[in-house]
Amino acid sequence: MIELTQDNYYSKRANMDYWSVSQFKAFDKCEACGLAEAQGEFKRPESDALLIGSYVDAYFAGEMKSFKYEHADKMFKKNGELYAKFEQGDDLIYRISQDPLMMKYLTGEKQVIRTAELFDVPWKIKMDVHGGDKIVDLKTVKDFEDVYQPGFGYRPWVEYWGYDIQGAIYQRIEQISSGRTEPLPFYIVAITKEKTPDIDVIRLDQSVLDTALAIVENKIERYDMIKNGEVEPRRCGRCEYCKRTKVLKAPSVYGVDE
Ligand SMILES: [Zn+2]
Repeated sequence: MIELTQDNYYSKRANMDYWSVSQFKAFDKCEACGLAEAQGEFKRPESDALLIGSYVDAYFAGEMKSFKYEHADKMFKKNGELYAKFEQGDDLIYRISQDPLMMKYLTGEKQVIRTAELFDVPWKIKMDVHGGDKIVDLKTVKDFEDVYQPGFGYRPWVEYWGYDIQGAIYQRIEQISSGRTEPLPFYIVAITKEKTPDIDVIRLDQSVLDTALAIVENKIERYDMIKNGEVEPRRCGRCEYCKRTKVLKAPSVYGVDE
């Protein structure tokens, strides 16, 4: 097990040694894709929408210098200004900084790394903000509307993006690693990327976090066996990775019910 630092936190070695929330969510979406990502064989393409969120995150994490260095060609002009399609990032930062409650909840220790064992596997977390008496994560989302998920129907955006899972794991790993008796509350500071951004500070109720943690407990054993090569991953058949690695064996038939 490697000792985690800000530099190696996202490394292949760290991802193989530890479970993380994003890794769990990746396995939950598609086991084959999740495994390929963990092994460093597949990287999800960084969309422009995702980059705006990362830009806002980097600003409030105090990591703008390294962010600009890493994304120099893609996001910034020669003079250091954002390309037009990313300019909204600055508007979002300004909007957040104008709201006292959002700024209050974003105050604390930034990008705090913790590790602990939970459900018989090692976990790593990196909290946006550790406020001493609370855990806070900054989210830049499309809007606050429900999102359609095949097989589920419309789901609240908090659940669709797995922020309930994130809150549950962050809360429990923080609690175990610090040895505190009561878990800290988990908050989302959220802003939308709409033309006129909407804002909110949301506390996820403990019942929501407990339900989410039970989901992780139910699934992590199988996912860990896949990660260790003891069980074959299932392919979802519809994600980027499955499409890219698809091999046709025989023609499909159209027009007959099987
Ligand atoms: Zn897939």
